[in-house]
Amino acid sequence: GQIYALGSSHLSTAAEPSYSKRTPPRVPNLIGGSFVDSKTSNFIDVINPATQEVVSQVPLSTDGEFKEAVSAAKKAFPRWRNTPITTRQRVMLKFQELIRRDMDKLSLNVTTEQGKTLKDAQGDVFRGLEVVEHACGMATLQMGEFVSNVSHGIDTYSIREPLGVCAGICPFNFPAMIPLWMFPVAVTCGNTFVLKPSEKDPGASIMLAELALEAGLPGGVLNIVHGTHDIVNAICDDDDIRAISFVGSNTAGMHIYSRAAAKGKRVQSNMGAKNHAIVMPDADADATLNALVAAGFGAAGQRCMALSTVIFVGGSQQWEAELIDRAKALKVNAGTEPDIDLGPVISKQAKERIHKLVQSGIESGAKLLLDGRNIVVPGYESGNFIGPTILSDVTANMECYQEEIFGPVLLSMQADSLEEAISIINNNKYGNGAAIFTTSGVAARKFQTEVEAGQVGINVPIPVPLPFFSFTGNKASFAGDLNFYGKAGVNFFTQIKTITQQWKDSTGSSKINLAMPTS
Ligand code: NAD
Repeated sequence: GQIYALGSSHLSTAAEPSYSKRTPPRVPNLIGGSFVDSKTSNFIDVINPATQEVVSQVPLSTDGEFKEAVSAAKKAFPRWRNTPITTRQRVMLKFQELIRRDMDKLSLNVTTEQGKTLKDAQGDVFRGLEVVEHACGMATLQMGEFVSNVSHGIDTYSIREPLGVCAGICPFNFPAMIPLWMFPVAVTCGNTFVLKPSEKDPGASIMLAELALEAGLPGGVLNIVHGTHDIVNAICDDDDIRAISFVGSNTAGMHIYSRAAAKGKRVQSNMGAKNHAIVMPDADADATLNALVAAGFGAAGQRCMALSTVIFVGGSQQWEAELIDRAKALKVNAGTEPDIDLGPVISKQAKERIHKLVQSGIESGAKLLLDGRNIVVPGYESGNFIGPTILSDVTANMECYQEEIFGPVLLSMQADSLEEAISIINNNKYGNGAAIFTTSGVAARKFQTEVEAGQVGINVPIPVPLPFFSFTGNKASFAGDLNFYGKAGVNFFTQIKTITQQWKDSTGSSKINLAMPTS
């Protein structure tokens, strides 16, 4: 059936059956305001991770289509940047209303293609929606500065101007939220955009783009092309693209960061993570255990802010037994089933990778306290399910600790003191997030000051900042210097122009002065 709620005005006019009329449907490109079939003969199946059904086929958009997308964005730019900021904000105001209207449809698409539970999929859409809401106040967010009378009759002011054509490259784990971290901020600042969704779950991007057009976003302001390495390299190399927003793994992110920088582009690159939680013996045991279970296994561990390692300090280690009980009680099933806790992981390959890392942990001396590897979900026997898994006595030299697992696997470590626990975290190459559970303000403040992580939680397990702040990963979790959304996001998508103006009576005589002007 049709998975995209596309209005007929956007349908391709080609003689071939259009993408939405095929079975399975093909994911269209969006170029210059029209959803169009790719002419490529290379497609990748988008697979429902709970059933292995082919949901749709995503094209490897051709180089010609990529160039058309960039040139549509380039063509749309002069008019869009001169569109009043109030009009651009109103498009976002309408856009957020339409996302709310279609929340269920969007969430169902996210669950179908990505696997997470419907409730979690709603959160995926909602956390992106909040960025759209924030973009509705762009006029205030992008205000410039003014200093009057820097010299006689001279004022200086700076304005924030859009860059031109910008691009976004997305990961699979938040198919709605992450595209919404990118293009709403970019286009409301006056840029035009080329989006490359994850080839694993491109559907939500298409639905969101459809809503953006319905909200009044002019054709060419947002364009979408698909593919993997080749299209990403084309984005990095293109002379008309000024900035790239990337979220995904370190391998891809560092490649994009350096390749695009060599072409003089701005890049913001959010990458991998190994998020730790320190549990102090004085913490509220019940709330802490619930937080660990939720943040460790929610979204099957496939969140960049998932808690993947817990460090028990001193006596808190005895809570491990209770942690196992609560993790065991979680219900694993297809995301569309009611009242479940976690769905499948994204692919067979991901499942294999996770199994291998768990096995390597066991072989290097970790204790397997809870094994979710052999789970079978009745009715979904071929789904990529892994149940909650807990490895204890993990040490920093183990591969399962050094690599990002990105699955429902919680590693448990021990430390004798807060200092030791903080130093474990600081020695890890990643620095996305870290949390502490304690009732001691002194411990919390020491942790906040000394921990090298971009997002810090104090009795909060997944402290993903709301859009009036920015998402601020550090160390190997981020490359660039202007973070996603918030003020930094606006700065990323704008450049400063500084104007010095002189207005004075021209009755006096003026002299030629070759010296550097001083006031
Ligand atoms: P991925 O790097 O495999 O894919 C991300 C994007 O890059 C995709 O669009 C893909 O087509 C492209 N890509 C992949 N390999 C490439 C290569 N070698 N060259 C060029 N392009 C390439 O990531 P994923 O598996 O989709 O997402 C999971 C990763 O994303 C995890 O590492 C997770 O921590 C990270 N992530 C980070 C954040 C954050 O904010 N820090 C948020 C979400 C996800």
